[in-house]
Amino acid sequence: MTSDKNPPSATLPEIEIQWRDVCARLRGEVGDTAWQSWLKPMAVKIFEGGRVRFSVPTRFMRDWVLDNYADRIAKMWRELNPAVLGLDVLVQAERSAAPADGPRPGLGAGSSAAANATVARAAAAAHSLSAPLDPRNTFDAFVVGKPNEFAWAAAKRVAEATKAPPFNPLFLYGGVGLGKTHLMHAIAWYIRTHQPKRNVLYMSAEKFMYRFIRALREQNTVDFKEQFRSVDVLMIDDVQFIAGKDSTQEEFFHTFNALVDQGRQIVISADKSPSDLEGMEERLISRLNCGLVADIHATTYELRLGILESKAEQLGGAVPHKVLEFLAHRITSNVRELEGALNRVIAQSQLVGREISLETAQDYLKDLLRANDRRVTIEDIQKRVAAHFNVRLADMFSERRSRSVARPRQIAMYLAKQLTQRSLPEIGRKFGGRDHTTVMHAVRKVEELRTQDQAFAEDVDMLRRMLEG
Ligand code: ADP
Ligand code: MG
Repeated sequence: MTSDKNPPSATLPEIEIQWRDVCARLRGEVGDTAWQSWLKPMAVKIFEGGRVRFSVPTRFMRDWVLDNYADRIAKMWRELNPAVLGLDVLVQAERSAAPADGPRPGLGAGSSAAANATVARAAAAAHSLSAPLDPRNTFDAFVVGKPNEFAWAAAKRVAEATKAPPFNPLFLYGGVGLGKTHLMHAIAWYIRTHQPKRNVLYMSAEKFMYRFIRALREQNTVDFKEQFRSVDVLMIDDVQFIAGKDSTQEEFFHTFNALVDQGRQIVISADKSPSDLEGMEERLISRLNCGLVADIHATTYELRLGILESKAEQLGGAVPHKVLEFLAHRITSNVRELEGALNRVIAQSQLVGREISLETAQDYLKDLLRANDRRVTIEDIQKRVAAHFNVRLADMFSERRSRSVARPRQIAMYLAKQLTQRSLPEIGRKFGGRDHTTVMHAVRKVEELRTQDQAFAEDVDMLRRMLEG
């Protein structure tokens, strides 16, 4: 306690000085952005009956301050001056002379007509804030397969929930073009159709940042925050974008917490898992990890074929199945490219008025196929094999010896020997520093299995063809 130097006293000017003191300490604790947004606008009004009364410009701020900072402020203050027992916050509009909203001692204050109007305005603003949704990105149009069934099921659960969020947040992650945005749009469409009263806001993280920075510049962060206040379901796409962008992250963190605390659903997507996102703050990562984390794996041949069949049907083009199989084999990067290839084949054949065949498809896609034909690396092989067998990439290097991971690892070593110029010791090193004899053993084992098991041999050959492009 600093009471010797600064004896507890409680006239209003002294209270104001103490507030500055508390505020300065809090600034160190919560960071500049939060301080700017929440603490700085708080104005001391009266000190009465052991309670300090503050005014803030909006209900949103009042609620936020009470929910997030009031306890901390009171505790700090008591250390400085035991005469301060607690605080109240009331709303006082900055510009207009409208009557002030009463202080809110806890959650759940009654709503006035003016407050309802504010909420309605904010809801409308949130709606217009939402990025447009692609009408093609629905659940019906999403082809489910092993690599995406978990993420799909989770997305469905979130979309169908009518009460509390089944998990919060839902965190979807996976490589480019694997369907993250599609699933988010699908959730949004579903809710807009089935529960039109719920306010769904879908936005890219980039847009979120852009908006936030603009609000900072125009000094209306209050409006910015207000817009999120009325959102029932907040979806932020490609959140990796804000990694390393500290003030945006901070803002996002607060928005996130406030909405979660109010039982609103949050859905996030990223290209990596929360823990793998570099430049993300620890506390945000742990928040993101709190809900359900669902990854979308690289596509398998079966899924690619399924997607092509479904798209070909939608497009109404007569595409021979052989051509679809060919595309599923050769275009393995992601679904977006796969779609692009199919579109091109159909468009070109219509243009020149020729029926689609394997030859014409190959001809139309020459450049695309060549791009997929680049030299195979050990990393490619590991990725492809891991995805094919649905094991983690890390298991290519790990010590684990269970058959379910050891066999794919052996196949990858075998393919590395077949498809690259690397020596056995070099291959061993790339597989978690294994000895060259281990690689040799793997190669022999796979050769042996190939002769004994026809299905196994076909599987390996297919992988090989896919890798060779
Ligand atoms: P991401 O956001 O993960 O980068 P998108 O959701 O934008 O990927 O998907 C890329 C394209 O592939 C979109 O046109 C999407 O509709 C399509 N797509 C991805 N996965 C599927 C799927 N399982 N079924 C149907 N279309 C899909
Ligand atoms: Mg996307």
